[in-house]
Amino acid sequence: MTKIAVFPGSFDPITTGHFDIVQRAMPLFDKIVVAIGVNSQKKYLFSLEQRTAWLEAVFADYPNVEVATFDGLTAHYCNKIGADYLLRGLRNASDFDYEKTISQLNNIVGQGIETVFWISQPAYSHISSTIVREIIKGGGDARPFLPPGVDI
Ligand code: ADP
Repeated sequence: MTKIAVFPGSFDPITTGHFDIVQRAMPLFDKIVVAIGVNSQKKYLFSLEQRTAWLEAVFADYPNVEVATFDGLTAHYCNKIGADYLLRGLRNASDFDYEKTISQLNNIVGQGIETVFWISQPAYSHISSTIVREIIKGGGDARPFLPPGVDI
């Protein structure tokens, strides 16, 4: 059976922290779908097209990684594409508190979907898309936090 995992997020923009998680998860799955969840209530700094283009550039040389977008519930999207696993990263205790509840809900709504958690490596645990957006808005150099392929 093909093991498919979805790594859902806003990726506004993708950071080295996200990139590290996909790289570490790769040996465990046949395919990883890095999927941008579209939420009409949420304000993004970068357009969906821009965020998708960056993801495609970052993972261009990774044949087992696919880039996609979805709306609606993450668990329904997983069921639709035949993914039994979700990937999420944990940087700190507040990530854990939030992710614990979401993973329990996804397991019920998605009828057995398992979330695999990746503890952030120390080198990346301070990095978030929020912080990177603040650096960009303030005119700073965000390149240390962006994977190759993201040309901000
Ligand atoms: P969301 O909008 O759902 O919070 P993000 O795009 O911010 O999505 O993040 C997607 C996932 O990546 C989340 O599980 C988040 O915890 C994880 N993540 C983000 N930054 C890091 C990092 N520096 N180290 C580890 N995990 C991270």
